[in-house]
This record gives sequence, C-alpha cells and structure tokens, in this order.
Amino acid sequence: MAVFPIRIYPDPVLRIEARRVEPVDDDVRRLVDDMFETMYQAPGIGLAAPQIGISLRVVVGDVGEGPFHLINPVLEATSGSWTYEEGCLSVPERYWPIKRSAYARASGIDVDGHPVMYEGDELMGRVLQHEIDHLGGTLLLKRLPRRVRKEALRELRQDGLARGAR
Ligand code: ZN
Repeated sequence: MAVFPIRIYPDPVLRIEARRVEPVDDDVRRLVDDMFETMYQAPGIGLAAPQIGISLRVVVGDVGEGPFHLINPVLEATSGSWTYEEGCLSVPERYWPIKRSAYARASGIDVDGHPVMYEGDELMGRVLQHEIDHLGGTLLLKRLPRRVRKEALRELRQDGLARGAR
C-alpha cells in the first residue's frame, strides 16, 4: 500500500468527470487500498480517486462506523436537509456551512465486483454526497451560496498568490 499526495484546488483533475471502472481488476483493488491508506493518513473521513490524481469512479470512506468503498457509485436517493460545517482534503483547512440532503443512499460495486449499497443520515449521508460529487468534477465550493462562493474563491486565490510569493 502507498500513501499518495492529495491533489489540491485548483488542480484540473479535480474538475473533470471521472471515468467508469471496467473491469474491476488488481489495479483497482490496489487503488482502493492506497486510497484507504491515504485517507487515514490525512486524516479524512472520505476520499475520491481524483483527489489522488486518478480520474476513476472510486470512493472510500469511514465516518467512524468502519471502512466502506464504492466503485462506479450512483446516488440513488436523498431526502431531508442538513447544514453542516464541511471541509475537503483538496481545499485544506477551510470549512463552510453547506446545506445538503440529510439522508443519502448510494449503490455501486465492491472490489470483488459484487453489488453493494450504503446509506445514512448526517455524516454518512454527507460523505456519500460529497465524494460522489468529486467524480463529477464538483467541489464543495460549488455547493456554497453564490455570494459566499465568490468570497471563498477570492480568499483561495489570495492564498495561492501568498504561497507563490514565499
Ligand atoms: Zn472532498
């Protein structure tokens, strides 16, 4: 297993649609292992393959109820509404109150090619929505209200300039 560097906004790999995995082979099984290793090391509660520069539809997570992974996940159902201070390993050390569905259910396949389904409220529901967003090239910034997003992007740009100048 290996820990990968996490791609940071505005890395273009974070903004493109990830490809479906077909078939599930040893490379994909290794990828899932590496993603868990990278996520726990970060530490984080969810990770999508594009965040380590691999544009494939694979997500992993662990909200404290044990590890889960989904290959080619589909968000099947959502309901309710919940606003929570959300962050992302690819936009480090930033948190914004983001409104999402409170409950989510997602299905996909596992590393053995078997169908799997995960669902949950609150953190679990949020991680499913957040990580599947990554596969469509959508970052949490896109989920912010327009005015908040503008301010967030401005701050991120400033940070970028600050880093470059150092
Ligand atoms: Zn993220």
